Amino acid sequence: MSDRKIQISLPSIGEEEWLACKDPLMSGWVTQGPKVALFEKAFAERHGVKHAIAVTSCTTALHLALVGLGIKAGDEVIVPAFTWVATANVVLYCGATPVLVDVDPKTFNIDIEQARARVTEKTRAVIAVHLFGRCADVDALREALPHNVAIVEDAACAAGAELAEGRCAGGLGDVAAFSFHPRKSITTGEGGMVTTNDSVLAERMLQARNHGASISEEQRHAGPRPYLLPEFNLLGFNYRMTDIQGAIGVVQLGKLDELLTEREHWAAWYSEQLADIDCIRTPAPSPSGRHGWQAYVLYIDLDKSPVARNELMSALEELGVSTRPGTHAVHMLGYYKNEYHYQDEDFPNARDCNNQTMAIPLHNRMQADDYQFVVQCIRRIICG
Ligand SMILES: *Cc1c(COP(=O)(O)O)cnc(C)c1O
Repeated sequence: MSDRKIQISLPSIGEEEWLACKDPLMSGWVTQGPKVALFEKAFAERHGVKHAIAVTSCTTALHLALVGLGIKAGDEVIVPAFTWVATANVVLYCGATPVLVDVDPKTFNIDIEQARARVTEKTRAVIAVHLFGRCADVDALREALPHNVAIVEDAACAAGAELAEGRCAGGLGDVAAFSFHPRKSITTGEGGMVTTNDSVLAERMLQARNHGASISEEQRHAGPRPYLLPEFNLLGFNYRMTDIQGAIGVVQLGKLDELLTEREHWAAWYSEQLADIDCIRTPAPSPSGRHGWQAYVLYIDLDKSPVARNELMSALEELGVSTRPGTHAVHMLGYYKNEYHYQDEDFPNARDCNNQTMAIPLHNRMQADDYQFVVQCIRRIICG
């Protein structure tokens, strides 16, 4: 056993975030208010989109996006089979049917040909997941799909990521959802953001975020008759972010580029250091854009590896290096397996990614010697 402990992920939060909380706490306006508005404005600017709407998580952001698009019972939404379970769950929240398709094991993103093949007259949207921060090829997807099928970006891992120079996640499809969970590159504890360039869609999502109210609480308080309740003409939810989180978000967003640059540097370093290990495939860099590097995920070739993936993970844990499977295959999870009678081999690439991927530590609280230690430990176990 080693006394060294390198976490898979740690948020980069410090004194500035702590100080930023003072304002909302002392002012007494702690729910969605001026800080959230600032965060939304800065987030929209940074990602080159017209509208950014802060919510409680990426899961609620995705749900709001589907509600805004009017997705309902009887509709189908195409979802990649290798993604976090929330991507598929939100389709069920709308009473619609998630239609799983396989992924490309090189990019971990949706297989566009297979997505095209699964379109029916009931298909209303495709959720393109920018998994681990690598943008899905939304342009190719757009070309492959009929025009009435909306593209929803699951940009949970992709704050600041680009498909191509100047083309940021968040404005690539019709609507996008981001996460500020502590495992993503910037965090507000829990939190999310939905972005779009469509003003009509934005208006519907703004109302649905706040119980379906026709005007926001802030507008009501600032208006001439703050004592009157607004109208409620659609079924909404309470998905509002707190102003404490908004204040933290403003500070975190200000650090995004610095955090991404550091992650880019170490991701490239890992790929260089691990390049000669036969049984490891390092993650494909983005051909023209910018990878968001939410996670650095290896693909282990089990035919060539002297150890199985789980053995490798447990040996690394014992040496003090935390790892995780990249993510899971939705069709192999109990709920989906039981409900839809999926077999593991229904989506063979997703199954293999489920069994053969491994995220190794990459975050902004690591030092150079931590990265060196991770590589040494991997080499010691695999190369002997
Ligand atoms: C993290 C993640 C989510 C969920 O985000 P929350 O903010 O925790 O709801 C959804 N999709 C993907 C691809 C994720 O990585």
